Amino acid sequence: MLDSAKVKQIARDMGADLVGITPMSRFEGAPKQMDPRYIMPKAKSMIVVGFRINRGALRGHEEGTHFSCYASMAYGAINTVFMPNFVIRFSRIFEDEGYEAMPFGYESTWGNSVDNYTKPDSSKPQPLLRNNMLHSRPVAPEKPAPDVLVHVRIAAYLAGLGEIGYSKVFLTPEFGPRQRFFMVMTEMELEPDPIYSGPQLCNRCMACVRECPGNAIDPVKTVKVTLAGHEVEWGELDPYKCLYAFRGAQPVENGEKGYYIAGRDDFKPSPFSPFYKKPNNVFTHGEAVCGGKGCIRACMINLESRGVLKNKFNSPFRAEKPWMVDWSDYDPADPRAAR
Ligand code: SF4
Ligand code: SF4
Repeated sequence: MLDSAKVKQIARDMGADLVGITPMSRFEGAPKQMDPRYIMPKAKSMIVVGFRINRGALRGHEEGTHFSCYASMAYGAINTVFMPNFVIRFSRIFEDEGYEAMPFGYESTWGNSVDNYTKPDSSKPQPLLRNNMLHSRPVAPEKPAPDVLVHVRIAAYLAGLGEIGYSKVFLTPEFGPRQRFFMVMTEMELEPDPIYSGPQLCNRCMACVRECPGNAIDPVKTVKVTLAGHEVEWGELDPYKCLYAFRGAQPVENGEKGYYIAGRDDFKPSPFSPFYKKPNNVFTHGEAVCGGKGCIRACMINLESRGVLKNKFNSPFRAEKPWMVDWSDYDPADPRAAR
């Protein structure tokens, strides 16, 4: 018979770095469109599983010499290869005991009713953000529209795995901001983990705000929510600013043209991208040109320097001043830049 200790041991034996368990009741108060209880009404427990991002996968970004390792091995491959492989096999341990279990990815792009494809109206300034607009309607008046998508960082919080930092990135005592999470819901009732109450991780150092290349994290405005009776607060994130800075893009000014993003003429490379054009996607993720400069790397440097992380290294991550690229001579007619 499975119990929480055995479930966690199996997850770790299968390659998980972090495992936490929350009862579904802790989602009480979640917005209807994000409440997993509408997906699986008989679920009693959610197991939240974390896979670490190797610190070394960020090395190429830090040096400015290699960008595809993080995008592929620490982003796309975890999300699209390692995680599905894991959660599908892991969820079967519950069904072998007669308890239905649902493997759950984390990305909104997995919502098959989210409209990512509507052509932008070229007469208006367009953000790079996907529309994220549901083209579905509820199947019954009391239900939310499909697909209900679960806030993975809130799930990790409810499963006791750590804190949500000011950056809105989830921080764990093991790896700080370096992990990705996935979920399995099951009808099996399991002993839950307490909400994290260990040493404070986010000390509001604001390094994430200062080093974010897109100024996407507001230094003053915050979002406050109540999760399982706990007040949780993070900095307001401008997803539009993040989305283009994350890709290494910078909006053109004063009638300039720039072809950094395929199919558009209004973005050039930012000082935080060495590429004339956004790199091609690898494992569906070529977007991570910023390499979490603020919300992951700067945050990790702060947490490591304070000695609060369990995953310790023999040398500090940052050895020299962060690089910037001078694009003052950017010429959109340059064959390397032109579309
Ligand atoms: S960089 Fe500092 S303020 Fe930002 S999330 Fe990390 S610890 Fe918190
Ligand atoms: S991913 Fe990059 S652009 Fe987005 S918030 Fe983090 S540091 Fe800023």
